[in-house]
Amino acid sequence: MRAWALGTGSSGNALVLEAGDGRVLVDAGFPPREMARRLRALEIAPESIEALVVTHEHHDHARGAASCAAKWHWQMYASGGTWRSLRARARAGTSFVSGATLDLRTMSVRTVRVAHDAAEPVALVATARDTGERVGLVYDVGHATRSLVESLSGLDALVLESNHDEGWLRAGPYPPSVCERIAGPFGHLSNRAAGAVAAACAHRGLTSVVLAHLSQRCNSPELAHAAMRATLSRTSFRGQIRVSQQDQPIAVPLGDERPRQMSFSW
Ligand SMILES: [Zn+2]
Ligand SMILES: [Zn+2]
Repeated sequence: MRAWALGTGSSGNALVLEAGDGRVLVDAGFPPREMARRLRALEIAPESIEALVVTHEHHDHARGAASCAAKWHWQMYASGGTWRSLRARARAGTSFVSGATLDLRTMSVRTVRVAHDAAEPVALVATARDTGERVGLVYDVGHATRSLVESLSGLDALVLESNHDEGWLRAGPYPPSVCERIAGPFGHLSNRAAGAVAAACAHRGLTSVVLAHLSQRCNSPELAHAAMRATLSRTSFRGQIRVSQQDQPIAVPLGDERPRQMSFSW
């Protein structure tokens, strides 16, 4: 299995999963022109993607969903609540109940309801049919529920929101109401909260943790990385920690890429 984050953050999110000869896109937070540019930078033809799974209806995850799916004939999947919220912008596709498992051609994708201020948002766990490798994708989560953490056991890679530093958020430029929303139980995961999720599902077989959806104003790659490193150094995790960015696609380390020492990069 292979995976690439095309970009993560409040200006747009999209991630490619590849298992066998099949490719699935998770979220389409970029309009078609920008999506094509990012895919082609990785030498991925947009037409080679079979399906699009939308985690929730917020603009940074779904802005390009209907237009990209129509343009390149992607089969689109979204939860019933997400689908209803997108109705004006999406014509054809498949809705599911959060908690369902999507049986796609070369991978299965388990959906897990998460706590976030959207209609029916989900996290995803994708399992490759050929190798059994598992990748968890968790972003836009206010707090981690037990069912979410339990669904993330035995992963090969975890892409996890690490949105803000709590101190930077309090001292930052946002009015109190916005701070409360971001830090609230249906907002976004702080670096500290992300560390708790990663530590709960850390094990020796976890190849990588990729930090995602960092706030541009209330976080930095160095800060998020250091926080996760400090937390995971107290666990059995021996993989890589990477930080995904808004404007730079990065590969999610998977497979045999397993260094003996914990290594760090962004
Ligand atoms: Zn988002
Ligand atoms: Zn959101």
